[in-house]
Amino acid sequence: MKVSQEILKLVPYKPGKPIAETQREYGLTDVIKLASNENPLGPSPRAMDAIKKALGNLHRYPDASNFSLIQKVSKIWSIPAEKMCVGNGSNELIDLLIRIYCEPGEAILTTEAAFVAYSVCAQAARVKNFTVPMAPNFKTNLPAMADFLENHPDGAKVRLVFIPNPNNPTGTYVNGEEIRSFLARAAKIPDLLVVFDEAYTEFVRADDYESGTKFLSQYANVCVLKTLSKAYGLAGLRVGFLLADKEIIELVNRVRNPFNVNELAQVAAEAAIDDYAFLERGKILNSRGLDYFYEELEALGLPCIESQANFVMFDTLRDVKKVNESLLRRGVILRPLLNYGFKTQLRMSVGTMAENQRAIRALSEVIGEIRS
Ligand SMILES: *Cc1c(COP(=O)(O)O)cnc(C)c1O
Repeated sequence: MKVSQEILKLVPYKPGKPIAETQREYGLTDVIKLASNENPLGPSPRAMDAIKKALGNLHRYPDASNFSLIQKVSKIWSIPAEKMCVGNGSNELIDLLIRIYCEPGEAILTTEAAFVAYSVCAQAARVKNFTVPMAPNFKTNLPAMADFLENHPDGAKVRLVFIPNPNNPTGTYVNGEEIRSFLARAAKIPDLLVVFDEAYTEFVRADDYESGTKFLSQYANVCVLKTLSKAYGLAGLRVGFLLADKEIIELVNRVRNPFNVNELAQVAAEAAIDDYAFLERGKILNSRGLDYFYEELEALGLPCIESQANFVMFDTLRDVKKVNESLLRRGVILRPLLNYGFKTQLRMSVGTMAENQRAIRALSEVIGEIRS
């Protein structure tokens, strides 16, 4: 059968190594995974209760309009319900935006070392993915992205700009002022949407961070993605939100599968969305974990980047394949970043304090073993 080159060349997304697989391959029982930025507190307890109560309804189709969930989230986030839709994780919404707004041969634009979902979804849709080099310290370079749109010969092909803020895997962010200057320039470019992906926004500690949601009413070309996969601890359920102009939402609702968010995901999301006590515990645990990592990595002489998210990217100064192999033998799963072109870096998610300490202990043994 004839298949397009873009599809044939797709590299399947490589998720963090599963715990069970590591146990099997290395003959271990006690394995920790700090590889997928998952919530160390588990799911919100309210979400679990809601799911138990909803089990008797599983013979029914879910609500295709996500009415009840959207009503509640709309109130809590102060975003009009017609400016919001729900996806099977924000990943589905990324895919849908690209399919809706880009013709084959047109393009998306993002930063170098951006979250991989953008380029994978683009390629699957026969859409080009342009990236702009990072500013120093692994920062997303918004002025360079605006320059690309205005001056580069390929700039006119770009229909969507993806700004992961904070970015994964670097953990860096762009501040409110940088966003304002960028949006003022982007607003002058016709047929261009700017998508802020705010998967880690709940963890941000920087004072000058501003959410893209602030700009929704000012700019019709701004979209914001949110997810329940990280701070809300519901990665396994797959719930993401798109906040955008009403016309954009209407198009996404036309293209998406009618039952893209299943019944259990809808009820759990509704229960978890205002579980502030859970969110707060997670934020405190994350702050402590990050500070612990900074201190210990510095003591080990391993450079790391200050992170606004629930993970830290650091330089092992060694062949990362060897380092990773040795960590796995010790039952510690971190995330190598070879697919981003980082040959010596690892990304380490914040876990429980006990997990963080175990990861650091393993790391200190491993770097003592492997020469830089
Ligand atoms: C984890 C992550 C997401 C979340 O994806 P879901 O499909 O909602 O689980 C989105 N964007 C970035 C940058 C991420 O790291």
